[in-house]
Amino acid sequence: MSTKGRPKRVGELIRHEIASLIAKGLKDPRIGFVSVMGVRMSPDLNYASVYVSLYGNESERKSSLIGLRHSAGWIRREVGKCLHTRITPEIRFFPDDTLDQVYHLEEVFEEIHKDQDTSPMLRLDLPGLIEEIRGFDSFLLTTHVNPDGDAVGSLLGLTHFLRALGKTSIACVMHDPVPQRYADLPGANKVVINPRKVPECQAVIIIDVAGRDRIGDINELVRHHQRVIVIDHHLGEGPSGSIGYIDSSYAASGEIVADMFELAGLEITPAAAHCLYVAQTTDTGGYRFSNTTPRSHRIAVKLLELGVDVAAVSQRVFDTMPRPKFELLRQVLNRIEFSPDGRLAHSYVTIQDLDEAGATKEHLDNLVNYARNIEGVRVAALFFGSGPEITKVSLRSDPDFNAAVFLENYGGGGHAAAAGATIARPLDGLRDEIVNRITKLLTDAPEGISE
Ligand code: AMP
Ligand code: MN
Ligand code: MN
Repeated sequence: MSTKGRPKRVGELIRHEIASLIAKGLKDPRIGFVSVMGVRMSPDLNYASVYVSLYGNESERKSSLIGLRHSAGWIRREVGKCLHTRITPEIRFFPDDTLDQVYHLEEVFEEIHKDQDTSPMLRLDLPGLIEEIRGFDSFLLTTHVNPDGDAVGSLLGLTHFLRALGKTSIACVMHDPVPQRYADLPGANKVVINPRKVPECQAVIIIDVAGRDRIGDINELVRHHQRVIVIDHHLGEGPSGSIGYIDSSYAASGEIVADMFELAGLEITPAAAHCLYVAQTTDTGGYRFSNTTPRSHRIAVKLLELGVDVAAVSQRVFDTMPRPKFELLRQVLNRIEFSPDGRLAHSYVTIQDLDEAGATKEHLDNLVNYARNIEGVRVAALFFGSGPEITKVSLRSDPDFNAAVFLENYGGGGHAAAAGATIARPLDGLRDEIVNRITKLLTDAPEGISE
């Protein structure tokens, strides 16, 4: 077959297909009245520039274009089903400025970039998320600073999911190192810590964290990336300009990944099961915290059937305390103070304590739970003075005291019963303020508090 007229024919096919998708109605509510005027193919057929006429007032036209660009991955896959080419071209939408003279391409794209930075995360359902992911070939994955078991477990579980989908170009990066007790998870040795540069990729996925500010220095490296996908179970909104799935009914991000395997019709591999079990068991405190659901147990059953060694995981993750952590625990327990009614217990550690104990930040994980477990305590707080002007607060609470909402006032977040914040203030004054505020809230509304 001669290839000369091929780009034209493929372009015409794509035009026809996109026009009929638009006629059927696209899901994105931002897309208003638009029509496809023409498609220009790159000679290698890798890119299709789709020229569209946009109708309505300026802001309606702009949001149509933003909506189309957000839907481009899905449209591409739909188009791919009807094309018999080896690679489905990447689809890029442009306003048709020959017909729409008032539109200035450059200005529009500048506007779109601005808008993408402030437009709220586009929420997908889980099948939609999987579809979106299927449309990309190369990925960069990351998670939050001070990674816990769910951060590492769901991140690595997701790499196994992507492999099961047939993806091969997957890089994992994190701001902080993998804590020692999760270092045996399959794939943990491939995570690159605090890189200066990240590999090119079509999509960045951030998991177990919804805020860009919580991925540390990685944020700087992916700041301008066009496609950021969020998978998370914390309270709150995703970063603006991103797309994703956030569902706080899940006890762990690892549970979401387990459901992604199921929905995609893929078998969870034993390596993935190990990662996802660690994700689940750590975020549910061994299936004991209030976030644990029947679904958690159903997922756990599946993971155990795949051969997860529960005793080995428990021993390593929960029952082995490194000596430096024990030394910190001594300090924390010694310094616990109570509010007059005993409903708040709080303690603190400083960076000097860490140095003296030979400890690192990872050893702080869950120290706050000891105060939480004291009878009568409804809220436990641990303050960590990580510098003269920086204090990390960890809160654990009864489900009726919404710790995440309380810490939102301090730029933090998390879950109703477990939340944190990093605040640019010295430990002492901040601790007094937070202790007083929580004490008052607990005294004023002892039965049901939700700020
Ligand atoms: P931690 O007290 O650090 O174990 O954190 C408890 C929960 O709150 C975890 O789910 C964290 O992801 C979340 N969290 C901790 N620090 C912050 C923060 N600075 N901003 C938002 N969420 C946080
Ligand atoms: Mn986490
Ligand atoms: Mn989590």
